[in-house]
Amino acid sequence: MRPGEGPEPPSIAVVGGGFSGVAVAAQLLRRGRPVRVTLVNRFGPLGRGVAYRTRLEAHVLNVPAGGMSGLPDDPEHFLRWARGRDPATTAETYVSRRQYGEYLEFLLREAEGVKAGVLERVVGEVLDIETDAEGVCLTFADGSKRRVDRVVLALGNYSPANPPAEGADFYSSERYVRDPWIRGSLDVIRPGESVLMLGTGLTALDIAVDLAGRGVKLPLRAVSRHGLLPHPHAPAKTGPHPPPELVDPPLTARGLVRAVRGATKSLDGNWRAAVNALRPATPGIWEELDVTERSRFLRHARPYWDVHRHRAAPATRAAVERMRESGELQIRAARVLRYETTGDGVRVLIRPRGTARTEPLFVERVVNCTGPSSDVRRIGDRLLDALCKRGLVAPDLLGLGLEVSDELALLGSDGRPSRTLYLVGPLLKAKFWEATAVPELRKHAAFIAERLLP
Ligand SMILES: Cc1cc2nc3c(=O)[nH]c(=O)nc-3n(C[C@H](O)[C@H](O)[C@H](O)COP(=O)(O)OP(=O)(O)OC[C@H]3O[C@@H](n4cnc5c(N)ncnc54)[C@H](O)[C@@H]3O)c2cc1C
Repeated sequence: MRPGEGPEPPSIAVVGGGFSGVAVAAQLLRRGRPVRVTLVNRFGPLGRGVAYRTRLEAHVLNVPAGGMSGLPDDPEHFLRWARGRDPATTAETYVSRRQYGEYLEFLLREAEGVKAGVLERVVGEVLDIETDAEGVCLTFADGSKRRVDRVVLALGNYSPANPPAEGADFYSSERYVRDPWIRGSLDVIRPGESVLMLGTGLTALDIAVDLAGRGVKLPLRAVSRHGLLPHPHAPAKTGPHPPPELVDPPLTARGLVRAVRGATKSLDGNWRAAVNALRPATPGIWEELDVTERSRFLRHARPYWDVHRHRAAPATRAAVERMRESGELQIRAARVLRYETTGDGVRVLIRPRGTARTEPLFVERVVNCTGPSSDVRRIGDRLLDALCKRGLVAPDLLGLGLEVSDELALLGSDGRPSRTLYLVGPLLKAKFWEATAVPELRKHAAFIAERLLP
């Protein structure tokens, strides 16, 4: 529609240009309706976010190419794009995350080709959002303002939280890297320096490979409460029906763990198939669990769930296994109790799991690999804080994200769904638990676009 030809098309701002923001913008444009979409991200280019801005080719997707389409109704969309680049790519290939970022730019450009809507890309940081009867007003870090009809928050993954420990002022020292995914943050670590990684999940695997390549002093050390590493992916086809144990499983943390164990048994020990079978049902189960059972699950089962559900690309996992077997990587199941800075490094006091004794580790650098933080009350992000202060959002009780309605509209502090603010991305874990990876996020993006442009 040209200016003057009719009523103004609806205007929708998407704040956050990682996977989720790009997927929502693309879905809005692909609906083929007049719409003005403003996609805002702190930095360019779009589509990188935290996950896809790494430049290291060894940082590959942890989902094979066949599962990474940005479009739920076109499951081979990414595979076709990747094959256009490298005809040898199959549905089982683990493509680099850097390339996936390029794919997301393509996804957006392709959606722009639909032409009915208009996309404006804005590089900037939104610091505040106000709502009134007319719509929504965004305030940017440079002081500028912009009015739109509705807003989708796609704010994504935040830097890891600092694990509680004595001597926490160490966290403000230059020997500590809080977020290894901030580009250049690992550059302070010099070859030959000794390093302790906090956490042994997917981030730790990637960072171990990265640090080893930088020539840090070996062995590299890693510590986490349980000392568990993510399992590798392996073929695990699930039949058309979920195993009987997973149909209407008991709605308690303990009952669910038993159900997955039972299903694994009926699947001849194939736990991957049991975990895969549970995945589509997980959001429904999570919504049914009361807060006590959710919190029991988080306390007791989460570390085990994480390493079975969030599996690693086989090559990454194998590289780390080789480091571990050769003694280049030492993993401890322990809790960090205290930091004491010394002239030439830091003395980290740990308590090995299941013991009452303490043990010191001396290292020159500590890197936090505990994964993204989702506790909105503690993240310390200016936009989230402003939204909380205005009562426009309600953090969930368990620190997993923000409360939303079934339409994915944000609930305010009064518990009522907003008519103008929506949420997509990992902060939806509060509602669905399973809201981290592309296969779920692309569905949420399509769902919101359909609600906003019916
Ligand atoms: C290291 C890593 C690797 C991963 N690998 C995979 C994988 O292989 N496969 C998979 O399926 N999933 C993977 N994930 C899961 C990942 O969460 C999702 O795939 C997806 O990338 C999440 O995208 P997002 O847009 O919601 O969040 P993000 O990628 O975090 O993007 C959010 C964006 O919003 C911007 N932003 C935030 N606040 C503001 C503001 N106030 N103003 C302007 N901009 C703002 C941020 O700067 C950022 O660019 C990975 C996650 C991580 C952390």
